[in-house]
Amino acid sequence: MNNVQCVCNFREDDSFKSSDDFHNHKNFVLKSEIFTTIEVKTFFSANNIETWHKCNTCFKVWRLVKPDVPFRGDWSVVPEIEL
Ligand SMILES: [Zn+2]
Repeated sequence: MNNVQCVCNFREDDSFKSSDDFHNHKNFVLKSEIFTTIEVKTFFSANNIETWHKCNTCFKVWRLVKPDVPFRGDWSVVPEIEL
């Protein structure tokens, strides 16, 4: 399945404008039936809080990394090599 068309690819930004932006997105991901939260295998950074969320449709894994100013966080597909 083409990930661009998948329901999991709904967010335009791969970072967060604010703490509220991050928390709103995280709350949506956690309560949504789009994703299943799975164990983190490879951390983006040892210094940031990170969770992984697997799409129930295309099975791509998304990483959600909490912002820590000036770092604006990350919401991106985990490369297969890191899975
Ligand atoms: Zn998907």
